[in-house]
Amino acid sequence: MIDLHVHTWRCRHAVGTVAEYVATAAERGIDTIALTDHLPLSPELVARDPEVARYAMPADELPEYVDEVIAARESARAMGGPEVLLGIEADVYPGNEEFVRALLSEHPFDVVLGSVHFVDGWAFDDPDRREGYASWDVRALWERYFGDLVSAARSGLADVIGHADLVKKFGYVPEGDLMPLFREVADAFAQAGVAVEVNTAGLRKPCAELYPSAPFLVALNRAGVPVTIGSDAHAPVEVGSAYEEARDALRDAGYRSLVVFRSRQAEEVPL
Ligand SMILES: [Zn+2]
Ligand SMILES: [Zn+2]
Repeated sequence: MIDLHVHTWRCRHAVGTVAEYVATAAERGIDTIALTDHLPLSPELVARDPEVARYAMPADELPEYVDEVIAARESARAMGGPEVLLGIEADVYPGNEEFVRALLSEHPFDVVLGSVHFVDGWAFDDPDRREGYASWDVRALWERYFGDLVSAARSGLADVIGHADLVKKFGYVPEGDLMPLFREVADAFAQAGVAVEVNTAGLRKPCAELYPSAPFLVALNRAGVPVTIGSDAHAPVEVGSAYEEARDALRDAGYRSLVVFRSRQAEEVPL
């Protein structure tokens, strides 16, 4: 059992310390856990809208976070606990790539999740910002979101694309056949050499389904895109949540293995 996506108190909208996450992972029989707090946001984004500071750890805490996870890895190893990976979830959006690249180059990450939470600076997944949907045609928003997500994949910054259809979070889904879009995105991911995660947080949100959806997973499998699993826990109690649902959805989509990343190299593990 693996969980490659969890957040600590450090990002200011989650709770729990690194040690608490590792202890819960040990209790639940998780073999490998990656801490993946939100990479600090760019100063430009924060200057534009100071409220976004609550979405990520402050810029000066990144070295401390890294040291803490590395220390937790060593103590878990000494105690025969779970494998602890140093991960990060980076916001990769147009114009932000060089900022992210510079921060990533400073630390020995095992795994980088690349996510899109902003469209033109709008945090479309924040329940407090839902009014923003009123100014978008849903299909246009989806096309824009997936366009930015494909750019994130092509940036080469990320090993794994986070919650690949996050744009459905509040149930805004375009009418009609979405398979052509999913196929196009899946092919682009395959070409870019990124994996995706099955993120179980979607089950806890208004959309009430996994990210990505079942048809999207089928398209990803057909395109040969590798997968991993993450709970996107924002509290230790959520570690490993809905793992069986994720595993079953992957099997239904035709997957037979997962990947984990160590020193940013993919390694296969059985599903
Ligand atoms: Zn978060
Ligand atoms: Zn995220």
